[in-house]
Amino acid sequence: MSETRRRHTSTASSATADFVVPRRRPIVLGNWKMNKTTTQAVVLAQDISNHYYRDYDRVETVLCPPFIDLKSVANVLEFDRSALRLGAQDVYWEESGAYTGAISPAMLVEVGCAYCIVGHSERRGLFGETDRDVNRKVQALLSAGISPVICVGEGAATREAGERPTQEFIAGQLEAAFEGVGASGAARSVVAYEPIWAIGTGRTATPEQAQEICAQIRGRISERYGHATAQAVRLVYGGSVKPENVGFFVQMPDLDGCLAGGAALDAPAFIELVKAFL
Ligand code: PEP
Repeated sequence: MSETRRRHTSTASSATADFVVPRRRPIVLGNWKMNKTTTQAVVLAQDISNHYYRDYDRVETVLCPPFIDLKSVANVLEFDRSALRLGAQDVYWEESGAYTGAISPAMLVEVGCAYCIVGHSERRGLFGETDRDVNRKVQALLSAGISPVICVGEGAATREAGERPTQEFIAGQLEAAFEGVGASGAARSVVAYEPIWAIGTGRTATPEQAQEICAQIRGRISERYGHATAQAVRLVYGGSVKPENVGFFVQMPDLDGCLAGGAALDAPAFIELVKAFL
């Protein structure tokens, strides 16, 4: 990442000051969704690990396979002494008990997860996850020492309604997710801007659209928690990111990485995303 990328006009405060923003470690996450049996997951994890060189460590790189594959993928990474990190795609907020089918934060900790996606639009849309649920998950994960990757993003109708409704929608999701969360918890979180109309569609937001929303997110975090916290939080873009388009997002000052779905299932393509943020 170049000095030019880091030297920019702050979007969160001191609106006109030109200063060097402390470098946030870029982060690239692969959301495997409901893909890969355990055998297939081991093959993919091994393939990614084989392509992942030591000096890529400057970019924190996180594999998020299905729950059932976590342990096997963890074993691959451990055997390879890999710097690749492990993340989950969801969690339930209770510690234990009669919650058939659910997975607790402690279970994710024990298997080695450092991150967990929450509020993905597919969880919200297909499984009825509410803003309140997202907030409970964020709080439970932070208490367990796992960094939440909080997904926010508008649908096509909201985007078409204009800039203001889009910004208000995302601000509402963000406020709800951080309800009751302190500054240190916020600083450990990652926020993923994922416009629903761009997920799995091959249609990406323009880098300028992604930057505009991420600047707004950082600004809201600054208002709520202060400048230092806002500068610490990593913001990523997700929505049909591919090796062919990732370079445009890298240029954007408030984008610290990406969350990929489709491209995360192909080791060379995924590694290209990582390399773009080096
Ligand atoms: C995602 O699932 O979060 C995602 C961004 O998917 P895709 O890259 O396939 O659009």
